[in-house]
Amino acid sequence: MYGSYNCDCGLVHTFSVKCLLTKGAYRQAAAFLSDFAPFLSRVAIFYDDEKMLNTFITSVKKEYRTTTVYASVSKKKIELMRLPEDTKIIVAVGSERAIDSAKYKAHLLDLPLVVSSFPYYSALSSQCVLNDDGALVSCCVNKPRGYIFDTAYPINRENRAELFGQISARLISAFEYYAAGIFDGGKYCPFIAGGLSDIAAKTIISLKDASKDLPFINEILLTASLKQAIIVSSGDVCTGGEIQCGLTYAMLNQELSQPSAQFVFAAVLNKLYLSHVFRRKSFTPPPDNNLRLQQISELIGISEYKALNKICPQLSAKAAAILEYKINEYRIDITQKLRASLNLFKLAFRTFKRLRDDDGYALSAYKSADVSLCIALAPDVIKGQGMLTALKRLGELDCYIV
Ligand SMILES: [Zn+2]
Repeated sequence: MYGSYNCDCGLVHTFSVKCLLTKGAYRQAAAFLSDFAPFLSRVAIFYDDEKMLNTFITSVKKEYRTTTVYASVSKKKIELMRLPEDTKIIVAVGSERAIDSAKYKAHLLDLPLVVSSFPYYSALSSQCVLNDDGALVSCCVNKPRGYIFDTAYPINRENRAELFGQISARLISAFEYYAAGIFDGGKYCPFIAGGLSDIAAKTIISLKDASKDLPFINEILLTASLKQAIIVSSGDVCTGGEIQCGLTYAMLNQELSQPSAQFVFAAVLNKLYLSHVFRRKSFTPPPDNNLRLQQISELIGISEYKALNKICPQLSAKAAAILEYKINEYRIDITQKLRASLNLFKLAFRTFKRLRDDDGYALSAYKSADVSLCIALAPDVIKGQGMLTALKRLGELDCYIV
């Protein structure tokens, strides 16, 4: 998957990230980097995982000079940070925090970026999420140029559950992308959406009876996630409800990882959407922006003045009527899609729990009040498109403010 393709949807999809995911990939890491920066030049490595950092440095230290930077997602800190003048390339090693901060710095300095981490959903996309004075902002930046990861890298059970969770969560990403095409007039490609959800469905079904130590499970999970990340990097897949909620939850409570949070919210939203689409009320008052403002400022800990920027203005009566009309017009298609993924989520939840060391005990730490509040406020906390945003605009999420 490399190059540009004329798609039947009428768009040209470009797969521009060079990827190397194989056993022993780190032995080829220096040669891989040399496609972007010559030997003996300086690599700035943004990291937040020391074990992964040491593994990576060991594989390139003979051929490259290295500078390490502990990743921070503070937008200001990254802007002010100075890298050695002779830096020719940036590498992100670790979790999304390392990837997002490296993406932003590489973009500011116009340096090539190579990612070496688990293949997170947005790892190869042109989006990064940063903290701007307490508030989350999503920035559009240059895409990474390369991705390298060694499948022989030790993966623990928690990592496996996370990878499985994020792969499954793409069922809702594909749906949100479809919904954004209807409600926001966004570009929509059925092949991109189909790719995301097919990989999710296949993985869920093939690991249905997964015991924790199934052979090849690491390869299955890494390959499926990387494929999804590549698909996302090629198209304008929107920021959907599961991402908005996952990020909002992370602001409230740092305990759960993004991939796990995305999975839990994806499963919850699937149910919630179905009930909202199925049982349309004849009238819902528009969103109460004053109440939202107060809640968001409390949730994030920023002033109401600053939170004001985050609140989307209310829809005009006509725009609301069009949105309502579209939900009704597409109700059968929407319901069909959601019913199909609902059944897959049921299967996936079992596997997701079984893959974890505690068989899912920690998931009971999710407070339903927090989950409700996140769902209600997420569309204002982080901008996105799709079903969650449409329901918010219609005032249907205000009932989850508790
Ligand atoms: Zn297409």
